[in-house]
Parts: sequence; C-alpha cells; structure tokens
Amino acid sequence: MQKEIDWNNIDLNSEPPAQEPMRQYYFMKKAREIVMEESRKLGRRLTADGETFGCQMNAKDSEKLIGILGTIGFEMIDDESADLVFYNTCTVRDNANQRVYGRLGLVHSMKKKNPHKKIALCGCMMQEPGVIEKIQKSYPFVDLVFGTHNIYKFAELLVTMYHSDRMVIDIWKDTDKIVEDLPAQRKYPFKSGVNIMYGCNNFCSYCIVPYVRGRERSRNPKDIIREIEALVADGVVEVMLLGQNVNSYGKTLDEPMSFAGLLQEVEKIEGLERIRFMTSHPKDLSDELIQVMKTSKKICRHLHLPLQAGSTRILTAMNRRYTKEQYLELAHKIRREIPDISLTTDIIVGFPGETAADVDETIEVVKEVEYDNAFTFIYSRRTGTPAAAMPNPVSDAEIKENFDRLLKAVQETARKRVGRLTGEVHRALVEEINEHDSALVSGRLSNNTIVHFPGDASLVGKLVNVKLVEAHGFYYIGELQ
Ligand code: SF4
Repeated sequence: MQKEIDWNNIDLNSEPPAQEPMRQYYFMKKAREIVMEESRKLGRRLTADGETFGCQMNAKDSEKLIGILGTIGFEMIDDESADLVFYNTCTVRDNANQRVYGRLGLVHSMKKKNPHKKIALCGCMMQEPGVIEKIQKSYPFVDLVFGTHNIYKFAELLVTMYHSDRMVIDIWKDTDKIVEDLPAQRKYPFKSGVNIMYGCNNFCSYCIVPYVRGRERSRNPKDIIREIEALVADGVVEVMLLGQNVNSYGKTLDEPMSFAGLLQEVEKIEGLERIRFMTSHPKDLSDELIQVMKTSKKICRHLHLPLQAGSTRILTAMNRRYTKEQYLELAHKIRREIPDISLTTDIIVGFPGETAADVDETIEVVKEVEYDNAFTFIYSRRTGTPAAAMPNPVSDAEIKENFDRLLKAVQETARKRVGRLTGEVHRALVEEINEHDSALVSGRLSNNTIVHFPGDASLVGKLVNVKLVEAHGFYYIGELQ
C-alpha cells in the first residue's frame, strides 16, 4: 500500500535515508530521472513486463515490483519485448527452472537487437545453490539478479543496474526484515492477496521453500488491518490471506496473536465481504480456527488442507508430523463442525520409497475425505532437501501407474461432491468474462467452485445470486437470479 509521498521533499543531493521505506522512495525518485533520460533518448516512454512463475506469494511480490516500475515511470505491457523484463521465478519443481532458462534464450535474441533492453531475475530459483553461477556462466547478458528477501529493494537495485556495465547480483541468505508501505499494482480491482507472514519453519523433507524463503516472520496485525482497510476503500470486496503455513501466524510477534485471532480482527472490517486464506498445515490447524470459521459471516466455505500422502510411513519420511489417522480425524472434525465446507488438497506421487500399497492408502484417504478437488504432483527431487538424498527412487512406470489410479479416484469423488449444490441458489463473486464464451461470465462461489452463467462485463467484481442449474465435473452452469 503506497505511502503518501511529497516527492519535492526528497533531496537527491543528500545521502539516501537509512530508514525503509523512505530509502526506497529516495531511489524511486532517482530511478525516475534515469527512466526519463532513457525515454528522452529513445523518444518514447520506456516499457516494462513482469513474468511471474509459481504460487500466490510470488504473484503478490510481483504486484510490488510492478507497482515500483509504474511509480518510476515505466509503462507496463504484457510482452517480453519490453525495454525491461523481470522474471519472478519459482523452484518448487525442476520444470519451473527449465522454463526460466528457456525464456532467457528467447529474450537474449531480443536484447541483441535492442542493447538498451534490461533483463532482471528474482524469486525463489535465485536463492537456490548453484543457480547464480549458472546464470553468470551461461546467461551473462542478464543485468540484475536478486532473491526473495530483498524484493522491497527493487528501486535501489534498478539504480545500481542502470549505473553498472556488468551483472548486478544481490542475494541474501535470510532476513528478519519486513518493509511496509511500498507501491503495489494488484491484478484485480475487486480482490487481492494479502501477505500475513513470510518464510516457513516446517522443513518437509521434499520441500525447498524453507531454504529459499527463509524463517517464518509475521507481519504486525495493525499493518495487515491497515492494508486491508485501504484495499476495501479502493474497491476490494475479497481478500486472500497468504502464508506458507498461516497456522503459524503470530509466533514471531512481540505481542503474539493466533491466526484465528487475526481472522476475527479482519472480519470486523466494514465493507469487506469475503475472507479466504492459504495454506494451512494439518499439523497445527487449531480447534479455535475451526470455531472461528464456523461462526464467521465472511470467511469462505473452503479450506485447502494439503495431505501430500496417505501412508503414515511416507508422511513420516516427508517430515509432515501427522499420521494418516490424525489427518482423517481432523478432516472429519472440520466436516462435522462446518458441514457445507469444501476441502481441497495437494498430493505428491513418487516420493522415494513409495510403494503401490502406500498409494492405495492415499486413495483410501481421498475416498474417505471426498475432496472437491485435489492438486496432484509428481515428486521432483530438489537439491539440498533431505529427500533428495533418500534411496529407492520410484520408477517412471510405477509413478505413471500410481498417478493415473490416484487421478481417477480424485475425479470420481470430486464429481460426486461438486454436484451436491445443483438446483440451489448461491452467491458468486463475478471474476471475468468467460474466456471461451463472451456471452457468459465466470464467478466463484464461497466454496471456491466456479460457476459460468449468462452475463456481461458490468457484473465483473460484483457479488450476485446465481442458481446452480447443472454440474459439469469441477464447475457449474448457472442462471443469474
Ligand atoms: S509447510 Fe512444508 S511443503 Fe509447505 S512450504 Fe513449508 S516446508 Fe514446504
């Protein structure tokens, strides 16, 4: 949320302030002059493009980067031929890395034609051991490389980049810093992600996130409330509270507050209609949170509860710190307390040592919990994680067979679940014109299921009542009421 700034008050002849975010506003003013000079040379406004890979946390970081680029004078375009292009990278699976290398090949040829073009890389992949050396060796035409801990420093890094004739690299191992009040350009006018915390201390054995996103640190609840109040004043009706594990919220605060406590404060905000959040780790999802969800008027009827595997033997090797039985007990408790809730999940297939019998147990859990949807992934070995050193890799043939069996079970239970509201009238937040049929709009129910129904652009951003006429697998066809 951008700070009210009197730019005339920033004196570029004096030393940059040490305090954040004022230091960054100083560099934004400095960068503005550089951008104006470059535009004058080219005889047109400079353009910029941001390419984001990975999760909603990355998307939220990119909104800040785009906000800073807009503040310093770039025109944002959705095209990698822009004068400046940044890639906010992900490294949760190897194919994410390969995609970035592929794009670098593409923009290199563009840069040969436009030597003034600037290329920046940031995000999780840049925090991974060995990646910086590879970039320096194989992609020396990249101008700026930074990580996940110093996103806020973008303006300062851009000034350094424009004043340097070689690659600028600024990667931090970790940080305890949280910088508030920076510009941000959100994707949707009516809904927004809101970071409540950064980092993760769970160290699931397959996961690289704790190594690239650092230790958990929670934002001050006052800053979160202030940001949401400003978003609501600016037209937002729905927020998605974001954290790698929101259940750990508040533990690093001077005055600790539980995640359930934070939700109750957010619920009080006038004009806010809907609250969503992700991601909840099953090991510390509290009874308090279930009760707050149950009695809330605004918290959406959807919970994403990653299972990852159904066999306790594999869960232990994954360091997930719950058993199959504990997960099932939790899922049943949530369903008992909040009967109309939709549960979705993440599942990994092919973890080292996994057998067909282990996958049978995963399918058992899927059938017993009856998810509305499940995101299924094939295990990706991440260098530096404990699982990367584990024996008994599963063969591709076994993984394929197990993956297909699991997918079939997920689709069968989801089809049964999703159709349960057919014939009922429910509120939907209209998110966009349907991309396949412009006579339809697409909306999202409180339980996160999509409904397509006849309507026009005037409905986008509105909460409307829709009759759910037919279920089609993971979505509904409806009628505006
Ligand atoms: S909870 Fe586990 S899977 Fe999720 S980000 Fe943290 S370490 Fe990774």
